[in-house]
Amino acid sequence: MSDGLPYFRYHPDPVATGSIRASADRCVCCDRSRGWIYTATFYTEHDIDGPFCPWCIADGSAAERFEGDFTDCFGLDGVSEDVVHEVTRRTPRLQQLAAAALVGPLRGRGGLGRRGRIRGAGEVPRGS
Ligand SMILES: [Zn+2]
Repeated sequence: MSDGLPYFRYHPDPVATGSIRASADRCVCCDRSRGWIYTATFYTEHDIDGPFCPWCIADGSAAERFEGDFTDCFGLDGVSEDVVHEVTRRTPRLQQLAAAALVGPLRGRGGLGRRGRIRGAGEVPRGS
């Protein structure tokens, strides 16, 4: 763990995963050099001329200012909007499977069992 970095509930050690690394670069959002920058993906239509610091991710200002997401919400259907918002806009990018796995326990009952409903029993498989 890295002292002083903001805490991301859904990405507890972004330094270990390489999403955030030590750097003296300036953050394009707050224009400060705070010792750490974000290195992974940010989905936006804006041209962004530099990295973000983790603080601007944590407080949502980077996502708000540049109108983008760090993680797309694939696999997060069924979770509350608050959680989706936090994962996509206030958390350094997660692998999607990791995001789903982390968020999964918060879904509560019935979240996973709903998919793959079996079609009518009399249906004849194609090609037979
Ligand atoms: Zn910043």
